[in-house]
Amino acid sequence: MARIYNFSAGPAMLPEEVLKETAEEMLDYHGSGMSVMEMSHRSKIFQQIIDEAEADLRELVGIPDNYRVLFLQGGATLQFGMIPMNLMTVNKKADYIHTGVWTKKAIADAKLFGEVRVVASSEDKKFSYIPNVKNIKFNKDSDYVYMCDNNTIYGTKFKEYPDTGDIPLICDMSSCFLSEPIDVKKFGMIYAGAQKNVGPAGVTIIIIRDDLVARTNELPLPAYLKYALHCENGSMYNTPPTYGIYICGKVFKWLLRTGGLEARKKLNEEKAKVLYDYLDSSSFYKTSVVPEARSLMNVTFKTPSEELDALFLEEVKKYKYTNLKGHRSTGGLRASIYNAMPKAGVEALVKFMKEFEEAHK
Ligand SMILES: *Cc1c(COP(=O)(O)O)cnc(C)c1O
Repeated sequence: MARIYNFSAGPAMLPEEVLKETAEEMLDYHGSGMSVMEMSHRSKIFQQIIDEAEADLRELVGIPDNYRVLFLQGGATLQFGMIPMNLMTVNKKADYIHTGVWTKKAIADAKLFGEVRVVASSEDKKFSYIPNVKNIKFNKDSDYVYMCDNNTIYGTKFKEYPDTGDIPLICDMSSCFLSEPIDVKKFGMIYAGAQKNVGPAGVTIIIIRDDLVARTNELPLPAYLKYALHCENGSMYNTPPTYGIYICGKVFKWLLRTGGLEARKKLNEEKAKVLYDYLDSSSFYKTSVVPEARSLMNVTFKTPSEELDALFLEEVKKYKYTNLKGHRSTGGLRASIYNAMPKAGVEALVKFMKEFEEAHK
């Protein structure tokens, strides 16, 4: 069996240790005689799995007691709608920072429920930078401010967060969650689809402050779409994504035993530096992202032509490094180097990139 370097933006690589552990437990989890996949979510043994996952996540991130943790389904995409439905419910107005496709979708959904004010945008330069958060003027009557931290498609990342005062800040962290420490109390709500950096597709992790949950108590919403109801039921109003939660729990333990989020950030910086240093030294490859906004998770670049981009993808097949094609909306190439990508994987990619440059410059 040979594992290969998978540079997919998501679903993405998982730590090999985690895959091995779960493989060992596949047929008989801890003497239960069954797989976690086959367990009732109402069983004691599964309750222990979800409780431990939450406790480990709280320890890993340092989540304060006045925040709830939810494990839901529907992807990050369901949150685009649930957020305004639940939280744009006081003045029915919210401020959005627009940094790409994911905020565009969130804005479109929010417009169904109230007034959206786009208070900053990087659309003028094809989302190749992050607006200066110090210059943004927020509207005092906003029910929340919304942003997307790491823009998976372009490879941009906020390096500081806006100061929104008393207005809750809501953040889509799908593609950078657990890649670095998080100061949770800066945010009203943080959420992330698991399949980028945390676990398998099908789990969305939500960290939401009590006062925001309280906004949703009396809302006439379908049951599944209401945060209060999920909180009251410990993410078990209905069947949660049980197997996915179990794997996320394993990843939290892996992060805890490998030094936590400070150590992980350092590693991620080292990994990304290998790639960015090479891109900066090369006159063959170009990245359109400004240096101040470079993502540690998704590195986008292009060769001198679309034909060479295509040839790059063809030739890299001989090494079986995979999923290096850029997003369909941007073209070009993209290497996603989430937590589970070893540094050796990035070094191997750069080695190939040098070979390719030498052969085609
Ligand atoms: C992938 C992604 C999404 C969409 O996630 P789904 O789970 O497919 O709904 C949203 N936001 C960001 C930042 C993403 O990277």
